[in-house]
Amino acid sequence: MASVELHDIDKSYGSFRAIEGLNLSVEDGSFTVFVGPSGCGKSTLLRMIAGLEKITGGELTIGGRRMNEADPIERGVAMVFQNYALYPHMTVEQNIGFSLRMAGMGKADIDRSVAAAAATLQIEPLLKRKPAQLSGGQRQRVAIGRAIVRNPAVFLFDEPLSNLDAELRVSMRVEIAKLHRRIGATMIYVTHDQTEAMTLADKIVVMRAGKIEQAGTPDALYADPDNFFVAGFIGSPRMNFLDGKLGADGMVKLDCGTVFKTGMIGPGKDMPVKVGIRPEHFTGQGVNGGMIDITVDVVENLGGTRFIYGSLASGQSVVVEDRSEKALCPGQNVNVGFPSRKALLFSVGGLRIRDVRPANSIPAE
Ligand code: ATP
Repeated sequence: MASVELHDIDKSYGSFRAIEGLNLSVEDGSFTVFVGPSGCGKSTLLRMIAGLEKITGGELTIGGRRMNEADPIERGVAMVFQNYALYPHMTVEQNIGFSLRMAGMGKADIDRSVAAAAATLQIEPLLKRKPAQLSGGQRQRVAIGRAIVRNPAVFLFDEPLSNLDAELRVSMRVEIAKLHRRIGATMIYVTHDQTEAMTLADKIVVMRAGKIEQAGTPDALYADPDNFFVAGFIGSPRMNFLDGKLGADGMVKLDCGTVFKTGMIGPGKDMPVKVGIRPEHFTGQGVNGGMIDITVDVVENLGGTRFIYGSLASGQSVVVEDRSEKALCPGQNVNVGFPSRKALLFSVGGLRIRDVRPANSIPAE
């Protein structure tokens, strides 16, 4: 096991800066997930840690040792790729033991390591098969087995579940979480799937355009996002953002007419804001907050719960999670409430407003 530290890391491809001055601590034994939209630099960052991509600037340490110039093999890391990267002509057993053979390990030791990894991943019956005779989930287990036998200090996963169907993704996700608990190694995992990030991570690192927008526990990012981007990225369906104004008295008036009290000290003058409310935070009547009228456009029934896709009087769209058993149909008007403590305020520039006083009524963008 080892911690991974990134200090002021830069990566440029010619004049394009893919990663800009990035700082991050990955704690020993933790499960850290890099998440963000396509092209934000997640894979580049992982590949720099693996030694597959040169670091343009800054310092990378693994287990306290500078690794910028170290070969991949010297870093004590093992990477699992999205496309499995198995040797098609080798059996599962040979694929898993390949790196050990290359390292000159004796046959008996290799057999022992391969058997232990196969037991961990429950793929013992598959050891004599070739990759073409395996399902996608089984191939990914073999790829993980190949990483396990190397006994790395740090596991690096690059979108390992993206090629699997939805059901298999869920079961492999659980397998990876169990594996982490069992072996306790440091794991860094790249995905663009926020559900994977929320369910697997001790720490989620939300990236955008080569920078970290916010890093923290899943709960912290969900309940206390620093900005509009993180608030919108984490959670599905995404958070609603309703336009409004925060008044001098600390009251918010939404463009649809709803007024509610924030508990903040007013900014001294009206301040345009976006109010973030998650679909699951809407409730029935009688909450200590605001009420909104929505016109139902579509109802998405998921069995245990349903999502109402509707519109406000202001024309804005809104998504409400509803667990009631009331009959609902498109065109109908419904009245739902939200507690003011669940309504997060953002400046129009996208920064979270946690505390407003007349002297700093608009946070620095
Ligand atoms: P995805 O989720 O689509 O895999 P990502 O977040 O992993 O995206 P990266 O693959 O890390 O993104 O790429 C980050 C940025 O660096 C992108 O704009 C990409 O086009 C650019 N990039 C990556 N590799 C190279 C390269 N070899 N040469 C030039 N630009 C590159």
